[in-house]
Amino acid sequence: MSNKIDILRTYLKYKNMRFKDRAALEKYQEKKISEQLDFVTSHSKFYEKYKGKPLFEYPLMDKKQMMEHFDELNTVGTNRDEAMKLAIDSERSRDFSEKLNHITVGLSSGTSDTRGIFLVSDKEKDTWAGYILSKVLYGSILGRYEVAFFMRANSNLYESVSSSNIHFVFYDIYKDVDDNIRKLLEQKPDIIVGQPFILLDLCRVAKDLHPKKVISIAEVLEDRDREEIKKAFNVDVIHQVYQCTEGCLATTCEYGTIHLNEDIVHVEKEYLDDRRFIPVITDFTRTSQPIIRYRLNDILVERKGPCPCGSCFTALERIEGREDDVFVFDGEGDKKVEVFPDFIRRLVLFAGDVSDYRIVQTEEGIMEVYWNENDAMKDKFMTELKKMASDRGFDLPEVKFYTYSFDRSKKLKRVESRRKR
Ligand SMILES: [Zn+2]
Repeated sequence: MSNKIDILRTYLKYKNMRFKDRAALEKYQEKKISEQLDFVTSHSKFYEKYKGKPLFEYPLMDKKQMMEHFDELNTVGTNRDEAMKLAIDSERSRDFSEKLNHITVGLSSGTSDTRGIFLVSDKEKDTWAGYILSKVLYGSILGRYEVAFFMRANSNLYESVSSSNIHFVFYDIYKDVDDNIRKLLEQKPDIIVGQPFILLDLCRVAKDLHPKKVISIAEVLEDRDREEIKKAFNVDVIHQVYQCTEGCLATTCEYGTIHLNEDIVHVEKEYLDDRRFIPVITDFTRTSQPIIRYRLNDILVERKGPCPCGSCFTALERIEGREDDVFVFDGEGDKKVEVFPDFIRRLVLFAGDVSDYRIVQTEEGIMEVYWNENDAMKDKFMTELKKMASDRGFDLPEVKFYTYSFDRSKKLKRVESRRKR
């Protein structure tokens, strides 16, 4: 059962938390990290041997390792196979209410080969709910809100947000679009939360919905898509909640800038170039399944100047995509040339005004472009690609053009690499 008082307490705590400057934030983080490490070294078998060591001496963690050491790592005595069975059964029956000793078990929806499972206790769930509300509610927590939430899989994690004044309706993205729209028009949501492709779908009924806040989750929100959604819904900002099973990593401020949530996570930045980095996160609030120096495979881009909102939390230019989606081409000799998703995106942008497209690298020498554009656009695209190939010194890949299509049961990735590694 969720505890409303705990949700409210967490909400107020984070809503009112202020840091004078970056130094004050770092001091706070130091204290939280030390408390968290004390806890994990006394409760997690895996971390026992690191007692007294500073954070940077802890091993880097990723999904694969997390699953390998699942049983010793978690602090609630959950067995991996048992948890996996429960998570898969829930997904199959689409009944997400069952728990394992007050622990919610979820399956991470990643596209990688290893499926991750995550554990959240009732208490952590309340903290999560309070925290998310402190970031996304535009008024008081006691106000009335209708929230429409589009999700791939429900989890009772999200239902803990519901209360008498915050009414929360879950929409299954696998259900018929028109049915969902009908339900949505009846609900009249104040806040709509969904993946970019869902928000794009809703643009055609946006003028009948007029929500106060539109929140994009789970996928990269492309600039062009963002502008289209903004215009259709007539809002100043499309908010983003960068939330993964490993934690709630970033949210958008009132200026539309995405900031890392450095009040609950410590982020080490593994730089790829001067502004791009892979986040390595340590969460201060997760204790059932500790998240310590967990390396995500997302590429984030730091913002150049400070955000006008004045927050000392790291400001991002954008969330660029998965590290796995970097394209790799043959260069001179044995050299391989890596191209970040953003540069691939720009090929389309420079070719002209294209709304729907997907570009997939299937093999190092092959690129597939899915769109509904004419030959002139194809020529422009090829000119841009040739220019890039000569500038960056890689062999021009073979490009195959197809009609636009997208499997709705998968994530919409405009730029995707499916190369074998
Ligand atoms: Zn800001």
